Amino acid sequence: MTPLPIRKATRVLVLTGAGVSAESGIATFRAGGGLWEKHRVEQVASMEGFVEDPQLVWRFYSERRKGVLAAEPNAGHYALAELEQRLGDRFLLTTQNVDGLHARAGSERMLELHGNVCMTRCLLCAREPFVDETLYLDSLPKCELCGEEGRDTILRPHIVWFGESLDGWVLSQIDDFISEAGSDLLFLAIGTAGAVYPAASLVDVARRVGGVSYLINLDEADNASQFEHVIRGKSGEVLPRLFGL
Ligand SMILES: [Zn+2]
Repeated sequence: MTPLPIRKATRVLVLTGAGVSAESGIATFRAGGGLWEKHRVEQVASMEGFVEDPQLVWRFYSERRKGVLAAEPNAGHYALAELEQRLGDRFLLTTQNVDGLHARAGSERMLELHGNVCMTRCLLCAREPFVDETLYLDSLPKCELCGEEGRDTILRPHIVWFGESLDGWVLSQIDDFISEAGSDLLFLAIGTAGAVYPAASLVDVARRVGGVSYLINLDEADNASQFEHVIRGKSGEVLPRLFGL
């Protein structure tokens, strides 16, 4: 395999999806035909569902927390952390995954587009999302800060649900990185079919600025033709070779 063409000015933007975590044994929300204990995934991943049955939603995310805490980063996660070590500020990782495995592998310049399953935030007050590994199987977490002001506010998982938009600050970080890179951009979509936003739009933007794009995915992707380079395979096997590690 030809290693990535990384020159002195090259800036690498990476987008990872479920395929990268699959090798760590993390199933996607959609695994099991989009059902969880006979509930539609939308029921446990939307504000409507949360309002209707917050305990059901918290049980779902508590189960996800258990899975994530029992999992370990794999060779693909570590390869990305090593590439970042080499490139410093010329590297930015964005991920659709909510499992926090990139951070555990050592990635620092990293944006979690869909949130993090081990973080919690308040529905009401402006407190920052915080790390929370507690399992709420039969109880609902309440906001202490709201409580001090006499409000009884339930906390929610720090996850972007269906119908919610991605964090504007996160998107502007990506835009800035792309504009600074211009034609020196190298965009890698890894373990994501790339048919959905933002993967699909990122490859367009990368092409528009004159950058080079790679798709690394185990399965054939619908929009593979939009990428200049397509490598089929597991990220844990492909990335160390592609990065020349
Ligand atoms: Zn609060």
